[in-house]
Amino acid sequence: MIAFSCDIDWAPEEVIEDTLNLFELFKIKCTIFSTHNSSIISKANKNLFEIALHPNFNDLFNGNLNNSFDNILDEIMDIHPYAKGIRTHTLMQSIPILQKFADKGFIYESNNFLPYHTDLKPFKLWNGLVRIPYNWEDDVHWNYGYSFDDARVSLDSNSLTVFDFHPIHVFINTENKYRYNEAKKHYKDPQKLLELRNKEVPGTRDLFINLLKHCKQNSIKTYTLIDIAEDFLKNNK
Ligand SMILES: [Zn+2]
Repeated sequence: MIAFSCDIDWAPEEVIEDTLNLFELFKIKCTIFSTHNSSIISKANKNLFEIALHPNFNDLFNGNLNNSFDNILDEIMDIHPYAKGIRTHTLMQSIPILQKFADKGFIYESNNFLPYHTDLKPFKLWNGLVRIPYNWEDDVHWNYGYSFDDARVSLDSNSLTVFDFHPIHVFINTENKYRYNEAKKHYKDPQKLLELRNKEVPGTRDLFINLLKHCKQNSIKTYTLIDIAEDFLKNNK
């Protein structure tokens, strides 16, 4: 069972559109963890894309006291009032944060990352939230020093694999932190980012497209995370 997710991380519209177009091209489903108001995300094909939330609470821990946890959460909930899932930027979480997500009516959270773990299983938290862990993330793949010619996770239909891609890394075909550090200086400039795209070695974009092709060629059904959460709840009453 394969599920794709994307953490949008404030990418410019052209960069988001590029990743969404690739999902469309191969007719593969994806859960979008949105960070901000984007017309590309709002217009995304509902048959393929689920919109979930990706709030950033880091400022609260960096001494920026001009904001509050509730304000940050309410702001992104106002943009996407129908979102049922949530993954925080940098995976910040705590017992009270998870409780708040349950109180706000979310169905699932995906804040637990188990790199390359085999056979993920959703499970229910004390507050009724379904926890859906994930086991692959682009930037962590290069932090391990792994090549992007192999995702190193099971694509077997019997075991759950959840991918997390960032549109910025798909766009510039990131293969290491040096390329990303350079790209960060031009984060809002798609033309410059395109010039910085990796063409030398396999990168995030190459792997991403290979995975989409693999799913299409083998008629592998893909799922959004809300599909997985609802299916889990139906079978675990
Ligand atoms: Zn993020």
